[in-house]
Amino acid sequence: MKIKLKLYDTLTRRKEAFRPLRKNRAGLYTCGPTVYNYAHIGNLRTYVFEDILRRTLEYAGYRVRHVMNITDVGHLTSDADEGEDKMEREAEKEKRSVWDIARFYTDAFLKDIARLNIKKAHVLSPATKNIREQISLIERLFKKGIAYETSQAVYFDVSRFPGYTKLSRQKLSAKKTRAREEVAADPEKRQAQDFALWFKRVGKFSNHTMRWPSPWGDGFPGWHIECSAISTKYLGQPFDIHTGGTDHITVHHANEIAQSEGAYGTPLARIWMHGEFLLISGSKMAKSAGGFYTLDALAEKGFSPIAFRYLVLTAHYRSQMNFTWESLSAAQRSLERLSNFVRSLHETKSYIPKYRDRIPVSGIRSLEKYSMAFERGVSDDLNMPKALAVVWELVTAYNKNPDAFSVKSMRAALNDFDRVLGLGLKNMKKKAVPARVKTLVAARESARRKRDWEKADALREKIKSLGYLVKDTPEGAEINKL
Ligand code: AMP
Ligand code: ZN
Repeated sequence: MKIKLKLYDTLTRRKEAFRPLRKNRAGLYTCGPTVYNYAHIGNLRTYVFEDILRRTLEYAGYRVRHVMNITDVGHLTSDADEGEDKMEREAEKEKRSVWDIARFYTDAFLKDIARLNIKKAHVLSPATKNIREQISLIERLFKKGIAYETSQAVYFDVSRFPGYTKLSRQKLSAKKTRAREEVAADPEKRQAQDFALWFKRVGKFSNHTMRWPSPWGDGFPGWHIECSAISTKYLGQPFDIHTGGTDHITVHHANEIAQSEGAYGTPLARIWMHGEFLLISGSKMAKSAGGFYTLDALAEKGFSPIAFRYLVLTAHYRSQMNFTWESLSAAQRSLERLSNFVRSLHETKSYIPKYRDRIPVSGIRSLEKYSMAFERGVSDDLNMPKALAVVWELVTAYNKNPDAFSVKSMRAALNDFDRVLGLGLKNMKKKAVPARVKTLVAARESARRKRDWEKADALREKIKSLGYLVKDTPEGAEINKL
């Protein structure tokens, strides 16, 4: 039976039962990176949250179609259309072409997500590959009288779209102060809150290298229009779930809704979900603020990317999380304990005859209680702290009474949970013990069976010299790395 999911919808500010538009399918759009620099671990926290969402949908039995854009043009240094294009500024700083910068940081992003076991979107599409679609969407807005042109740009007229603040629940006047600078820059703008759909290659953008012809002259698209164009192109409109970080609620997603719903008159997405920030010393981790870390910076201090993934799972995605090295160390320790446990389960099977799996079913308690608790956790708006707690309850129960569950069912349960957790528990067995050590352990087991204790002890020392400790448990040999 399919698991019923409840997901928190920013639009209604409530947990809603997930009801897909098409039976057994889920269309998911997640806003992608602006590829002008390495992703910091704050960005990566959001991508881990989205990965957990996708994995949970899959776990619940849905066939997910996941679409993500890559912002390689048009994202200005302020989300509210102020300043310079982030890509062009970086290209100038690094003395490389803007296309080079996009390629380089897109690759870096793909490497980062792979290191975090984040599943790659089925469609990963750069803004610059969808210029035609963006232009036709703007033309549609013109036809509806929602877009207008000035000598510098094309804008969306927010006074023509009544639902503009429905996601943010802000007063429209609250946005005025932020946009004041831009009004000063373009005196022909109708309202301060209007946002750019297309920038002309004039004024401060005269030297902009990325440019395309359009009905409004050479130029480049604004940042928000790409997501409206790409999501609808690959998922239709409406689609099921749209996500991003909480900073997107007031500007980027408000603008996406305005563009898509203004153009087509139907909702863009059914559910809007937002991941909370990763903080550093109490403030949002941000590239502009200077205080940020990349996965490489973590690796330099000896932390694995998966330890960071584990850390992310310890907080609910809608709670802010303050990053500290202590919390990352604690996450790494927990992950090591978990991998040691998984390894010992695998080693148990390899060396110890399968008598455990021959215990009559009646003598083995069912794992169902834990599976159900895990399902309850993940299906309740992705409560990963709860899901992790269930994992540890199961490990503790097994350690207390290893006869209660068969090794096989333990492994199956953990692998099943890992479909959502994405910690790579399955692979932990592979790297665990080199073949040479395994052979020695097998030889020692054989010596023990023949009661040749002297040989068994010599082999234990030999194994130790290779960095492994053999522990004899009622189940047989357990191998752990020293
Ligand atoms: P950007 O590459 O700047 O477009 O951001 C990529 C994603 O990271 C967006 O969904 C942002 O909302 C998200 N984001 C940015 N800063 C943080 C942070 N400190 N914590 C969590 N998510 C963040
Ligand atoms: Zn977007």
